[in-house]
Amino acid sequence: MICLKQSYHLGQAFSTRAYAEKSLPAGYIAKETRGGGWVGVKKAIPVTFKPFLELNQDSINSFLSDAERMDLEPDEPKEIMPDYSGLDIICPGCARSYHDTTASYDLDKYANSAMLQLKDKYRGYGWEEIIPDHDSGYGILVCPDCGAALAPSGKLRIA
Ligand SMILES: [Zn+2]
Repeated sequence: MICLKQSYHLGQAFSTRAYAEKSLPAGYIAKETRGGGWVGVKKAIPVTFKPFLELNQDSINSFLSDAERMDLEPDEPKEIMPDYSGLDIICPGCARSYHDTTASYDLDKYANSAMLQLKDKYRGYGWEEIIPDHDSGYGILVCPDCGAALAPSGKLRIA
């Protein structure tokens, strides 16, 4: 390359286009200068190579499953698990609230004893503590005051 540069005196105008094109090394094209002569300028990178990364990405994508393709997408903001803890649970019998929800509360699932806890202010009442158990049925959940089922339909009533 060094010897080409030296022998072609790049930048110095050729007198005609034909002569320029004939004399230029590979990768250069003849371009007319304002002064009327012709100079060799480096050929623009061919379009097929320019967006190389994009093309490459496309060809990779065509071999990937949808799930794998999703992995290549920029990270979406992660869905934050909503925190439904601390909500008042209303007794359908006496309409009072002696329990609130724990972090295990899930409004889409049938209630279990891990979803609720006796509120702090009722801890000293001598009422039976609810033992957290994800496998417990909702039938054991009763109001400590009136005895009504807290989740007669399976779902707790939230204020
Ligand atoms: Zn009640």
